[in-house]
Amino acid sequence: MHTIIFATGNKDKLAEIREIMSSLPVTILSMADAGISCDIEENGKTFTENALIKARAIAAVLPDRYRSAIVMADDSGLEVDAMDKLPGVYSARWMGHDTSYRIKNAKIIENLKDVPVPERTARFVCAMAAVLPDGRTLSTRGVIEGKIGYEERGTNGFGYDPIFMLPDMSCSTAELLPEEKNKISHRGKALREMERLLRNELD
Ligand code: IMP
Repeated sequence: MHTIIFATGNKDKLAEIREIMSSLPVTILSMADAGISCDIEENGKTFTENALIKARAIAAVLPDRYRSAIVMADDSGLEVDAMDKLPGVYSARWMGHDTSYRIKNAKIIENLKDVPVPERTARFVCAMAAVLPDGRTLSTRGVIEGKIGYEERGTNGFGYDPIFMLPDMSCSTAELLPEEKNKISHRGKALREMERLLRNELD
């Protein structure tokens, strides 16, 4: 049985990764489960760089008993084409960490007020990185394409979900049930691809 230490404190993310990795012979621990805490500066220019920065930083401070663990980290965000792909890697801190998503979403809608539907394209991107016990790294990327809506819709999900309309513009990702979103989401895609790479490594 291998151990994967996943760089998150987010219970929903852990549940999703446990579900997607459930057929692999692995135990998945959060950083807290493994007794690790470390402050990491996410100063990469891409989602993949940031995911690798996080995974490597944690791999560097693994307690002895987890020396043979695989460390995984992700980084994700929203790219809005009409805003030069912002908020992008700044998605969590854009307009300030403590600013509510009601305000951030309203700002994006306002920024796009004169942008016609065909140019309201946007995507959620998720990069997943893993550092293997021998120091090699793996990375995957998942994307879901959509368009920025004209108002917030739906109460599921989090962050920018209420303004992220699926391509046919019939509903936002905040109107999907969690299991429906996981099937098509950037994170689900990146995780399933990572599961495939890890399966090859563990076989
Ligand atoms: P993280 O890298 O997963 O912590 O995500 C960074 C930020 O990207 C989040 O704080 C959200 O602002 C945004 N984000 C990433 N994934 C999603 C999503 O599935 N829905 C809405 N917002 C998201």
